[in-house]
Amino acid sequence: MEKMRVENPPDPLHVLIIDDEASIRDGSKRILSRIGFRASTAENGTDALELLAEDRAALVLLDMKMPGMDGMEVLGRIREVDASILVIVITGFATLETAVAAMKLGAYDFIPKPFEPAQLRIVANRARDRITLVQNAERLAAEKQRTLVDLDTEKSRVRTILESLPTGTLVTNNDGQVVLMNPALRRLLSLDPDVEVGASIATYLADEGLRELILAISHGQYIDFEDIPSVELPLGEQYLQVRGRPVLGERNECLGAVVTVDDITAMKTLDRLKSEFVAKVSHELRSPLATIHEQLAIVLSAISEMAPSGDRQMLARAKEKTSGLISLIGDLLDLSRIEEGTLCAELEPVHLEKLLGSIVSFLRTRADAKQQTLTLIHGDAPLPTIEADPLALESIFGNLVANAINYTPDGGDIRVEAEVAGSNLRVQVIDNGFGIEARHHERIFERFYRVKDDQTRFITGTGLGLPIVKQLVETLGGLVELESEPGRGTTFTVLTPLRKNTF
Ligand code: ADP
Repeated sequence: MEKMRVENPPDPLHVLIIDDEASIRDGSKRILSRIGFRASTAENGTDALELLAEDRAALVLLDMKMPGMDGMEVLGRIREVDASILVIVITGFATLETAVAAMKLGAYDFIPKPFEPAQLRIVANRARDRITLVQNAERLAAEKQRTLVDLDTEKSRVRTILESLPTGTLVTNNDGQVVLMNPALRRLLSLDPDVEVGASIATYLADEGLRELILAISHGQYIDFEDIPSVELPLGEQYLQVRGRPVLGERNECLGAVVTVDDITAMKTLDRLKSEFVAKVSHELRSPLATIHEQLAIVLSAISEMAPSGDRQMLARAKEKTSGLISLIGDLLDLSRIEEGTLCAELEPVHLEKLLGSIVSFLRTRADAKQQTLTLIHGDAPLPTIEADPLALESIFGNLVANAINYTPDGGDIRVEAEVAGSNLRVQVIDNGFGIEARHHERIFERFYRVKDDQTRFITGTGLGLPIVKQLVETLGGLVELESEPGRGTTFTVLTPLRKNTF
């Protein structure tokens, strides 16, 4: 049930009637109470001033002609105590000048004596309107003042937070001028702590690629924020990670960019140590595993048909598992070599046609075992010889063709199509196998990610082949694309620049 909001009615205004005539006091009190005033009375100035000191009135009805302290004096004293009290003077016809004098002294209005109840009501209501108006104006002014104070506090609070943030923060306007930098940013970029903001981003950042990225963000060139790359910036011994986002206005217009800079040196060191550890362990495991594998093969061929088939099967499974482990170790070593940057370092002339031909003929035995056709097709122009790291190329295309064989059912077709396209080499590995659902397309390039469904569950693999392919292709300055439809097949396209020394 909806709650009803109950607004408290405003307190009735206090009116003090000061008159020596009891009939006027009582009559006025009755009339004013009826129209919502809280009325009190005093028969002389002294009592009135005492009463006012205890209970402030918003409005005073004051007789000018009283014994003792006269009205004019009472008016003066009231004005002294509280100039915001409205005073309506009561005057006889004969004393109009007094009324004028009283008005000059600050009385708000006057009412001639004798008066009708209606006259009193009109004058009192007019005074009340005036009081309410003044009160409202005062309330609004106080609210405005409070909002300004709040805003000011909010602004300085945000500034204090920004100044204390451990993340370096920089804000540019739409022209790429730096409008804000916090101390963490100055520290991370080794800028002079007193360097002023206001200049273009180029003044503060030496890295050209990063400058262009920040300018592009500031100019609103990124519609999809997911597309904005984060940049790793090596600075001497340090590694910084820089991320940027556009600052959008109320109408979604781009006002500039906010850029954060974090020190990721510790993370990088940890990553390197982890890779070194994996490489070392893999290296240590490789020889004993290869020996076990060889010995299992020897035992398997030696025990011949004589041994019970259960034992032979057990040994065959052990040999298969060892070979799986050997290929996992090979993949891990490949990955750490890529990370170290040693895999694409050794360049030698590579005859592309020969290289692809030898991969295809090496893997043909596997394709034959599944009654698959495996063909290498290339365009009219012969494929060139290039300076490259043959191990890197073998790893890329070997992995893609082996996957095509693995994830295509018996009797399928696999084609490797290679051609020179402009300044690029384009190789497509096309199969008509199981295909890959769209939701896995991004993820299969992640380490250890494997699609597990009814068709692929029993196919052994490491989940490292495609991450290796992707990293190698990217190291070569190229890209790998995937088109696939479940049940129809998959095409992996590798596109790499053909420049000399590309590979
Ligand atoms: P692995 O083949 O060792 O599992 P990969 O990284 O080479 O690891 O591949 C990751 C996953 O991508 C595979 O498990 C498989 O599900 C899917 N995949 C790769 N290539 C193909 C292909 N040609 N057809 C269908 N699925 C594929």
